[in-house]
Order: sequence, then structure tokens, then C-alpha cells
Amino acid sequence: MKAFKEALSAIMKPVTIKYPAGKPEEKYSQIPDGLRGKPQFDDEKCIGCAACTVQCSTGANIFKDEEDHRLLEINLNKCVFCGRCVEICPEEALFFTNKFELASTVKDELKVNVRIELYKCENCGGIVAPKRQLNVIVERIMKNLTDETARKIAEEDIPKYMYLCKDCRRRLSYKLNTHTRKQVLLE
Ligand code: SF4
Ligand code: SF4
Repeated sequence: MKAFKEALSAIMKPVTIKYPAGKPEEKYSQIPDGLRGKPQFDDEKCIGCAACTVQCSTGANIFKDEEDHRLLEINLNKCVFCGRCVEICPEEALFFTNKFELASTVKDELKVNVRIELYKCENCGGIVAPKRQLNVIVERIMKNLTDETARKIAEEDIPKYMYLCKDCRRRLSYKLNTHTRKQVLLE
């Protein structure tokens, strides 16, 4: 009898909700918290480190160094919304929105991107790293150095080495006799 009542009420009263989900006056009001919708970069927070691209196993999240900028781009055609890039971001600059209707016939609408300014080598003009990333590195090194002598060394060395590309930095360290491999050979 109980089963019969349940079956009858299921026939009389719908147990599903109409699409788009939620109250008619509030479209999508029943989207659950934590839904992995369209990923989005936070333009203000992203430092261009590219850690998120390394984590992406489908090749959806890539970076490309252009003339003055690093382009970070997620191709929604390849994204499986696994969330690894979001988890790994050290700046919490990548997040999922609750937008889930992503079908489009316009290719560019299937791309999510951000451009971060690059720092060029003071010696040769080659690419060093994104400016914001360098600033964050310097800020964190100085914040964590409590020893006075170490702070002094860092204050001297950072302007000398930090703003050179890897090749110019290596050449300078050989010239100044501070390259680690050279030190090992000399010892
Ligand atoms: S989104 Fe995060 S991990 Fe990706 S480049 Fe920006 S700061 Fe780095
Ligand atoms: S959610 Fe997963 S598949 Fe999509 S860009 Fe991030 S790491 Fe790649």
C-alpha cells in the first residue's frame, strides 16, 4: 500500500525540476556550491608563474611568451574541469565560476586568458620572467630573511642577479666567481 501511494504521488507531482534549474524568477538558483563551471583568471592576482599550465594533464592550459607579455590561456574544448590548475595556483588567481552553459560557435569564446607583463634582461633584452612574479619573489625572500647578514647579502645580490636572464646571470656569476659549479671546481 505504501509503495502504491509513493508511486501515485510520483505520477501526480513532478520530482524533477525544470531546466534552467531553480525558481522561475531566479534563473539557476539551484546551482550547487562548488560547481566547476567555466574557469577564470583573476587579472589582479595572477603573477604569470605558469604553475597552473604545468599541472594541466590535457594540454588545455598553456602559456606563451609574446613580445612584452606572457599569455596564459585555457582552451575550454580541451578542459575536463579536473581542478588541478586551480588547486596548484599559489596566488589563488584561478577559480571556477558557476557558468556551465559553455557551448559556442565562436572559437574565441571557448578561450579564457590573461596577459601579464614580462621583465626584459637589463643586459641583453631577453626575457627574464613576468614582472609581478619577480616582485613577489623578492618580497617573499626579504620577508623570510630574519638574519641581518643574510639580509645584507640578499640586498646586494638581488639587484645584481635577479633582473638578468639566465644566460647573462650565469656569465656574471662566472665573472664574479660565484657560480656554484665554479666554486666546486675551485675547492
Ligand atoms: S593562475 Fe596562478 S598558477 Fe597560473 S600563472 Fe597565474 S598565478 Fe601562476
Ligand atoms: S581544470 Fe584541469 S583540464 Fe582544465 S585547464 Fe585546469 S588542469 Fe587543465
